[in-house]
Amino acid sequence: MIAGILKEPHGENRVSLLPEQAEALMKKNIEVWIEDGAGINAFADNEAYTFKNIRVVSRKELLLQADIILSIHNLSSEEIVGLRNEALLVGVYQPLYNIELIKDYTAAIVTLCSIDMLPRTTRAQSMDVLSSQANIAGYKAVLTAANIYGRYFPMFMTAAGSIAPARVLILGAGVAGLQAIATARRLGAVVEVFDTRPAVKEEVMSLGAKFIEIGGAADASTAGGYAVDQTEEYRQQQQMKIAESITKADIVITTAQIPGKNAPVLITEKMLKTMRNGSVIVDIAAGTGGNTPFTKNNEAVKYNGVTILGDANLPSTMPFDASKLYGKNVLNFLSLLLDKDGNIQLDFEDELVKGACITHRGEVVHEKIKNLISN
Ligand code: NAD
Repeated sequence: MIAGILKEPHGENRVSLLPEQAEALMKKNIEVWIEDGAGINAFADNEAYTFKNIRVVSRKELLLQADIILSIHNLSSEEIVGLRNEALLVGVYQPLYNIELIKDYTAAIVTLCSIDMLPRTTRAQSMDVLSSQANIAGYKAVLTAANIYGRYFPMFMTAAGSIAPARVLILGAGVAGLQAIATARRLGAVVEVFDTRPAVKEEVMSLGAKFIEIGGAADASTAGGYAVDQTEEYRQQQQMKIAESITKADIVITTAQIPGKNAPVLITEKMLKTMRNGSVIVDIAAGTGGNTPFTKNNEAVKYNGVTILGDANLPSTMPFDASKLYGKNVLNFLSLLLDKDGNIQLDFEDELVKGACITHRGEVVHEKIKNLISN
């Protein structure tokens, strides 16, 4: 059995498995190969892998021969067509947003496991890539904003005058938002937070931030912990309250997302016009459209003196730690799929396997994706 680690596309610095993590697979009698140069941007060069008896090969050889293919991002349609039947792919393939590619994987008769689709249950926590990476995104969003912002974060009283603390507004208190709160608080900022899930209020307050409550949120109890669309009345109330907070904010970190849909636009053009010159918005929901009307992923846009930076892949800017956590998530997930001799055994009765497995033996096996394709 061969497991191959692919090199990620240009702009992605992470790698699926670091050299020391690959050893865990080798203990299961699995030979590990890596595409030439795949770890370089995560500070793991070819030598670091060969030192651990991992073979460095070309992409072509790996795609042709590996039984297990590890890649964070999707392969291209052209590459999918050439994959070996029965190969197992494990990565973050975002099937809800990539239906056409899912059809290609199905036609290629590969088994595709997309770990971003795992249910957010206690048992899945050790393999939850969304959490491990969102944590980094929230941390780095605040540091990035602080870097662009031309003023201090903490309050200072000096002989040359006083500096007021920065005011940070955080939209969405999921994993990224909570880490953003903690990071902004550590830097001395005053923090206000919005989320449609009232359940997060206590966590927000325990981090020393103010939670702005809006009554009448839509019931999200059957959405697996995720947010759901809100009524027009709720949206209007929320907009009014965000408008009040945003005029006072120096930094805004936006993280609000709804799985399978475009991110809600929470900051309108009218609100942007009321923001202070020099304010900064870091929008990590940029990959699904962003929370402002002007967000562009991987770009900094200026509007009326406000910098709007869209970045859906901040974890890539901390490639070593991001890869280390990602790789551990992957190993934990693989341990569900491999028996003690290192053979692949898929147990579709297991809710985690069922939740992450998208295609198998030429069929789409994931109910939600199957429905999306047939509608
Ligand atoms: P996410 O990235 O899907 O969304 C970010 C946040 O934005 C969420 O808190 C969401 O409620 C909020 N949001 C969405 N629309 C909004 C709007 N219109 N206005 C304001 N806020 C809005 O979230 P995530 O970080 O992936 O977390 C999703 C859920 O999974 C959470 O309930 C989290 O607690 C849960 N979770 C569970 C586990 C576990 O038990 N294994 C691990 C991690 C996360």
